[in-house]
Amino acid sequence: MFTRSQSLRDYHTFGLAAEARYFVSVRSTAGLKAVLTSAVGRENPLLFLGGGSNTVFTRDFDGLVVHLNAKGKRVVGARGNSVFVRAQAGEDWHELVCWTLQQGFGGLENLSLIPGRVGAAPIQNIGAYGVALEDVFHELSALEIATNEIKTFARSDCCFGYRDSVFKGELKGRYVILSVVFRLTRADHRIRTSYGAISDELQRRGITDPSIQALSRVVVAIRQRQLPNPKVLGNSGSFFKNPVVSAQRFEALKARYPDIPSYPISPQKHKLAAAWLIERAGWKGCRKGDVGMYAKQALVMVNHGGAIGTEVLELARAMQADIHEKYGIELDAEVELH
Ligand SMILES: Cc1cc2nc3c(=O)[nH]c(=O)nc-3n(C[C@H](O)[C@H](O)[C@H](O)COP(=O)(O)OP(=O)(O)OC[C@H]3O[C@@H](n4cnc5c(N)ncnc54)[C@H](O)[C@@H]3O)c2cc1C
Repeated sequence: MFTRSQSLRDYHTFGLAAEARYFVSVRSTAGLKAVLTSAVGRENPLLFLGGGSNTVFTRDFDGLVVHLNAKGKRVVGARGNSVFVRAQAGEDWHELVCWTLQQGFGGLENLSLIPGRVGAAPIQNIGAYGVALEDVFHELSALEIATNEIKTFARSDCCFGYRDSVFKGELKGRYVILSVVFRLTRADHRIRTSYGAISDELQRRGITDPSIQALSRVVVAIRQRQLPNPKVLGNSGSFFKNPVVSAQRFEALKARYPDIPSYPISPQKHKLAAAWLIERAGWKGCRKGDVGMYAKQALVMVNHGGAIGTEVLELARAMQADIHEKYGIELDAEVELH
């Protein structure tokens, strides 16, 4: 059942050479429960893994990596214009998006081509092009590790925030997400095209009234143009979060840098573009050893082939210190560093 000294290189999209002391793949809730109650499951630090696209293994993991592979997706209900779809944690995210679009269900189109699996999506409330998972979330079921009991979490239980949820905060490491139910639309879809890159691409293609499927194709095209394919160049997407600052702090920065991009998220808070800060500080396209920042997207750290964990950590720390010195802003990692 358990593999010893398993290489994790092929289990995370950054592709670093690291090993797990123990590794196991699970395909069902019964299998997961058996793993968690086994001696290896009880006696070792645990790490749950989906597609490994938000996880960077900078060193060996001295514990048990549980690879979550339960598959399945189906319609579980409908009410008015809403349709409810349940997907198991091990489903590939983009395959789920494509399947819902084939059924004519709206809601996930702006989230097309995000790597990873369904189970990890609520953890950081994945988002792209003006839509976040919380906009289409209905509920999830999760297994409590300490008790082996299954609990249902409604939207309000998840405390979703920008790339954040209760599973990254007070419940971190306490639950394994088993499945997620999405609330999608059957007709009269809410088409969200206000995000700059999307409206530009639609205009370029001469599309004025896009279908959900056309919008998905536009999102896929933009992403393929701007982001490195992890199968070709190892990466974990945005390495840092966009920093959120007070309105006062933002005004001070705006006085110094009149062209600083920002998105007001409340009267008191502004989200800044980490990519702009990084590019302006001269890090875009840089390379140190076998790690660097992607030449077309300043926020994406890439593995040029033979990167090692210490190189990743050193580059991340050097950038954080420099951004702090230049702008007085703390850059927090969006990826999970191990
Ligand atoms: C090229 C690229 C582009 C990206 N673009 C975006 C984007 O536009 N928007 C965005 O939000 N993210 C983006 N990401 C980040 C990533 O795709 C998401 O965070 C995704 O949800 C991670 O899924 P995963 O299955 O790969 O997670 P993993 O890396 O396997 O896991 C992430 C975290 O969740 C935990 N975890 C995983 N599954 C479970 C589970 N079932 N129960 C409990 N804990 C679990 C893990 O322990 C880990 O802490 C991008 C990544 C890449 C490589």
